[in-house]
Amino acid sequence: MLRRYIQTPALPSAQPFSHPKDAPEVTPYSPPTADQLLAIRVNAGIEELAQTERFAHAEADLIEAIVEGVGQFAAGEFAPLNRIGDTEGARLENGVVRLPDGFKAAYDAYVEQGWNAIASPLAHGGQGLPFTLSCNVLENLGAANMAFNLLPMLSVGAIEALEHHGSKDQQAKYLPNLVSGKWSGTMNLTEPAAGSDVGALRSTAVPVTDGPHAGKYRITGQKIYITWGEHDLSDNIIHLVLARLPDAPEGTRGISLFLVPKYHVNDDGSLGARNDLKCVSLEHKLGINASPTCVMSYGDNGDCIGELVGHENKGLAAMFTMMNNARINVGNQGNQIAERATQQAMAYARDRVQSARAGSPDKSSVAIIEHPDVRRMLLRMKALTEGCRALLYYCAGQVDRGNLGDEAAKNRADIIVPLLKAWGTDIGVEVAGLGIQIHGGMGFVEETGAAQHWRDSRIAPIYEGTNGIQAADLVTRKLGIEGGEAMIALFDTIAREAAGEPTLAHLAQDCAAIARWMRDEASLDDRLAGSVPFCTMAAVAVAGWQLMKQAAAVAAGAAPSLSATKPVTVRFFLDRIVPEAAGLKAGAIAGADLLYALPAEALAG
Ligand SMILES: Cc1cc2nc3c(=O)[nH]c(=O)nc-3n(C[C@H](O)[C@H](O)[C@H](O)COP(=O)(O)OP(=O)(O)OC[C@H]3O[C@@H](n4cnc5c(N)ncnc54)[C@H](O)[C@@H]3O)c2cc1C
Repeated sequence: MLRRYIQTPALPSAQPFSHPKDAPEVTPYSPPTADQLLAIRVNAGIEELAQTERFAHAEADLIEAIVEGVGQFAAGEFAPLNRIGDTEGARLENGVVRLPDGFKAAYDAYVEQGWNAIASPLAHGGQGLPFTLSCNVLENLGAANMAFNLLPMLSVGAIEALEHHGSKDQQAKYLPNLVSGKWSGTMNLTEPAAGSDVGALRSTAVPVTDGPHAGKYRITGQKIYITWGEHDLSDNIIHLVLARLPDAPEGTRGISLFLVPKYHVNDDGSLGARNDLKCVSLEHKLGINASPTCVMSYGDNGDCIGELVGHENKGLAAMFTMMNNARINVGNQGNQIAERATQQAMAYARDRVQSARAGSPDKSSVAIIEHPDVRRMLLRMKALTEGCRALLYYCAGQVDRGNLGDEAAKNRADIIVPLLKAWGTDIGVEVAGLGIQIHGGMGFVEETGAAQHWRDSRIAPIYEGTNGIQAADLVTRKLGIEGGEAMIALFDTIAREAAGEPTLAHLAQDCAAIARWMRDEASLDDRLAGSVPFCTMAAVAVAGWQLMKQAAAVAAGAAPSLSATKPVTVRFFLDRIVPEAAGLKAGAIAGADLLYALPAEALAG
């Protein structure tokens, strides 16, 4: 008989999930606060950041209060809505997107408690804390409820884009309400014929020359797959939309960025008339059902008004600010779903009794956590999750240093972003899949929620630039930073610092050698053919290196509550995950010839 899992005490006002059978409830989310704090200290280096003038207020007590506070908030308010969000999902009713009961109240509480404003500038009502802390807010919210978390996540990206590219007037008009969370933001790139190839987009923007909107632009076009493109949780929605001006050059050089509000905003900040834009349909999806994925139509009546953000035809560069941020946050989603799936699998494995342990003289049946293969899966899940978290906070710390003007850290962050996005989301799917495996048949049916984690996880390798596109970015643009020396220096550093861990040192040396080969000898086809295995190798090398630092810190007395587990998970990562990554070398340097040995008709015929 399965134990009935108990939900967190702060139940939503939502109707409880009802299932025809007497089903076990989903394991509640328990924030991994100690591991998060360790990663924030060791991998992001928060104490060093707090020594700078800008982040002087990021003192240890405050950091702990934030990490603990948001963990509890996420567990109490967002996690209980995860199941109902999956089963009921978002609905489009007469042009309005509705979420299940409980979402509005939870979002209001999120805004009221100020979680949205953590890393935004003080000048616009934010708390001016490091980006690292905003990653932690999203980590907790997303582990609690990945689909819901996409709402604040997209807003964080819109804030960043306006902070860097908006005019002073736009910042004054739009940022305070975006920063508080009263308004939310979206990102509109994709069109039916423009997916990975953003340059193919056809939405248009025509300058308005007279009337009340003179100086602005009339936007026309359809955007697909727009996350939280329409909903009634925030008072206004600020859409950031890519479109083309008349006579703009073809491709990515002719794209401009526009701010298109759902409701016009009057000069005194009050909301005006509704803009000419709407959600025409919602996608039916494999997962993240509580995140409305909208087909958006702009300018059906010829009256959709937007403002230019930044310069004409420089929209993609401006959007990249938002996309870079979003790529880190999507990599974070891999970590989030892995954490949640691991917690769920651990609880189930301790509870489910099957067979005696084969290697034990005691022939009574034991919980499946006692069987070697289940141990292997559980430790793998835990090691991958912790490795991903270490990589996430290392990346976040480099972003913070880059924002303080440290050029080398900015370059380092640029190199890490595709590793985090691609590998982080790949391991999210892998770990969620292992979670199902540990549940056996109970994982394949929906009751336990293990299947939801896997279904939710599957989008992350696709959106925000597919993982294939991330790997291509790594071996082209990112390999080009400082003529390849920035990337090679990273691997050389790992090889040097991992001298006591020969397997990791060899992996880092291999990565450096592959980077040199790709830079100096390989054709572009050869580079792209090996890009995905190389991206995985590089990610595992950096994650292993950062885990090594965690293990050393724990051995020196940091995080006493992790003193038993951390050495084991790090050992597992270094002894089991790192050698697998090293085995990818053959694929990374194999070149493209075999891939093109068959013409497309023969391959697919
Ligand atoms: C749930 C969901 C939410 C989304 N949210 C948003 C959003 O808020 N805003 C937004 O603008 N978009 C959003 N998207 C769109 C998403 O970013 C795109 O789906 C993604 O970029 C891939 O584009 P595509 O679907 O057209 O796939 P395609 O571009 O058709 O790619 C198909 C396959 O071909 C590969 N491929 C394509 N081109 C190349 C190439 N040059 N080299 C190598 N491989 C290639 C891809 O890697 C992929 O495996 C969302 C999508 C979904 C499903």
